[in-house]
Amino acid sequence: MVLPTVDPDWEIRAAAFQALEWLVARHGPTLRWDTIQEGFEFKGQHLYFATKAKGIFRPKEMRGAALSIKTIIPRGNRPVPYEDSAGEDGVFTYKLRGDDPDNHDNRLLQQAWKASTPLIYFLAVEPGIYQPLWPIFIRGIDRERLECTLSVDDAALAEREQRVPMVADARAIEIRREYVTVQTKRRLHQARFRLEVLRAYEKRCAVCRLPREELLDAAHIVADREETGAPVVPNGLALCRLHHGVFDTDLMGIRPDGVIELSKSLLDTRDGPTLEHAVKAFQGQHLHLPRRIEDQPGQRFLEERYARFRRAG
Ligand SMILES: [Zn+2]
Repeated sequence: MVLPTVDPDWEIRAAAFQALEWLVARHGPTLRWDTIQEGFEFKGQHLYFATKAKGIFRPKEMRGAALSIKTIIPRGNRPVPYEDSAGEDGVFTYKLRGDDPDNHDNRLLQQAWKASTPLIYFLAVEPGIYQPLWPIFIRGIDRERLECTLSVDDAALAEREQRVPMVADARAIEIRREYVTVQTKRRLHQARFRLEVLRAYEKRCAVCRLPREELLDAAHIVADREETGAPVVPNGLALCRLHHGVFDTDLMGIRPDGVIELSKSLLDTRDGPTLEHAVKAFQGQHLHLPRRIEDQPGQRFLEERYARFRRAG
């Protein structure tokens, strides 16, 4: 196997990864551009992770491959969220800069590819909001299509192998990276589904109107394990934790016309104020639906789910 060439910037790269780890611990998995823009410290110097203008970035203090790549947003356009994370396979695709695969920036990616250098990928999830992914490795560069394929790796294992490359088995690493990438994409898609559903419902529970985002889930109408359970807004409902639980256990059903129906066993149960006021009071009420028709629950999703509720009852 080919030994990775020694990365002349490994100390800076390690400092950048460490700094990102702290940022994510403090701010959660997505970071605002303002936070990324603050950069990081390395031996008393101040360095940047990325710059606003560039997709492919290497600080002037570094000599080897790029440090980071970032979703490119065409001038005047809003980013298409997760455009570069489409597909369920074990790779991300990233467009090279311009139409010359050998220009300065693209050469920084070629170097990363040849030397198996780990990079950071700032993936745009919304305007001004990025999900940092690292370590990310270039799997290949397609000069005709002007794009490269990337895979994410497990940070701890990748770091150990960078230090002791002799023990690493190339095929095993490739399989592991595919797996980590598929998992990462799945998490990204779930996060996007939640964001879109909560936005459509104006961050309120569709049953009780509870307005606390941290207590809201994006529930699937038809479960995502079912073949028909696509993660799209018309198959979603913003529900608070309580109503999500009641809905998921089929103690609450939604009629295809949007009216809430509780199971007979629940209606027959007598208990304190939570059951009476927070659950049973909604029997026969109408769901609060998004204003945009295209965000409202799809009829076929509602029908399929309501049939399940009836069978459960
Ligand atoms: Zn609720």
